[in-house]
Amino acid sequence: FSSEPSLQADSTEENGFKGHGMLAPFTAGWQSTDLHPLVIERSEGSYVYDINGKKYIDALAGLWSTALGGNEPRLIKAATDQLSKLPFYHSFWNRTTKPSLDLANEILSMFTAREMGKVFFTNSGSEANDSQVKLVWYYNNALGRPDKKKFIARSKSYHGSTIISASLSGLPALHQKFDLPAPFVLHTDCPHYWRFHLPDETEEDFATRLATNLENLILKEGPETIAAFIAEPVMGAGGVIPPPKTYFQKIQAVLNKYDILLIADEVITAFGRLGTMFGCDMYNIKPDLVSIAKALSSAYMPIGAILVSPEVTDVIHSQSNKLGSFAHGFTYSGHPVSCAVAIEALKIYNERNITEHVQKIAPRFQEGIKAFSGSPIVGEIRGLGLILGTEFVDNKSPNDPFPAEWGVYI
Ligand code: PLP
Repeated sequence: FSSEPSLQADSTEENGFKGHGMLAPFTAGWQSTDLHPLVIERSEGSYVYDINGKKYIDALAGLWSTALGGNEPRLIKAATDQLSKLPFYHSFWNRTTKPSLDLANEILSMFTAREMGKVFFTNSGSEANDSQVKLVWYYNNALGRPDKKKFIARSKSYHGSTIISASLSGLPALHQKFDLPAPFVLHTDCPHYWRFHLPDETEEDFATRLATNLENLILKEGPETIAAFIAEPVMGAGGVIPPPKTYFQKIQAVLNKYDILLIADEVITAFGRLGTMFGCDMYNIKPDLVSIAKALSSAYMPIGAILVSPEVTDVIHSQSNKLGSFAHGFTYSGHPVSCAVAIEALKIYNERNITEHVQKIAPRFQEGIKAFSGSPIVGEIRGLGLILGTEFVDNKSPNDPFPAEWGVYI
């Protein structure tokens, strides 16, 4: 997972790839043409093979995304069938395609943490979160609340890398040198109990303190200026951080008190990873808006989406004469091939009882990795279901991280 060149397998040099022309995302020193990336050629189940035929366990499932493994024939067939029938048509101006309509209905029927009203399609998780921000602004304009526009996100969160989604993210590397975050984004505490709890503070007390800090931030800024709070049910890229006990109930109570929308960023937690279909099911979260991507198509085709509550869509519908059209969307919103693949992926999750499967295999996975807890360089191993992170520190202490240059994941 490291971007350190010295830790990358060097499969390309002997194959004549030395000095390639690509600027690689999230890669250290991309300015250098001497980097030799690991070039992956094919996949099979949970394994990938590089161009020299060397086999690797794809432990991150792509980028937390290829939930059905490397070569699921039904997804390949869904894509090729749709490509032969209708490779592309758009969904602008009240035109659309059958796969996008069917997929929207299927997503709405699968999300049961609360009733959702509509689905808007994007191509990625970053675009989903960008779309959330614009939708929330549009909603507050529809309600005649032009000042209610700020967003609160959390330190160490990851919500994407476009200007808006990187601003929402709480990782310094995404802000430094990019003039971010944008001024409408505020950050509050990371809910990492092991690292941030006070001496003798229980998980519940820690959650209470974080909810109080959130309330104080809202009061300081003025509740009339805060539009929404965004959170991953389990923080992923920031270090796999499940919430402390009672956290989401306490945070939701504060948000409800000040009429602030809750956006659940389920880009990595949706579709079974935690052992429930969505992270919202695991933590009894009742969001107003939800972002999904990645496992939605098992990453075989790029697609993301946002789910919008009936309360939000009702306001927008009732004001549509005043507002005109929702002038937002992408050429590939609801791309028929991506939607056809996603429909098939969701069918497979249902048919194979994916949540039960995860519950069944998760203990073996969790216990296997947690066997390394005794190592002197392991501070904490944390996770649930099929998500797990190991924190390497000196002296087994949260206060003694190793120097960043020894291998930084972002
Ligand atoms: N939100 C979360 C929680 C993510 O983990 C990610 C990507 O890892 C994103 C958003 C951004 O998704 P994408 O890379 O598809 O833009």
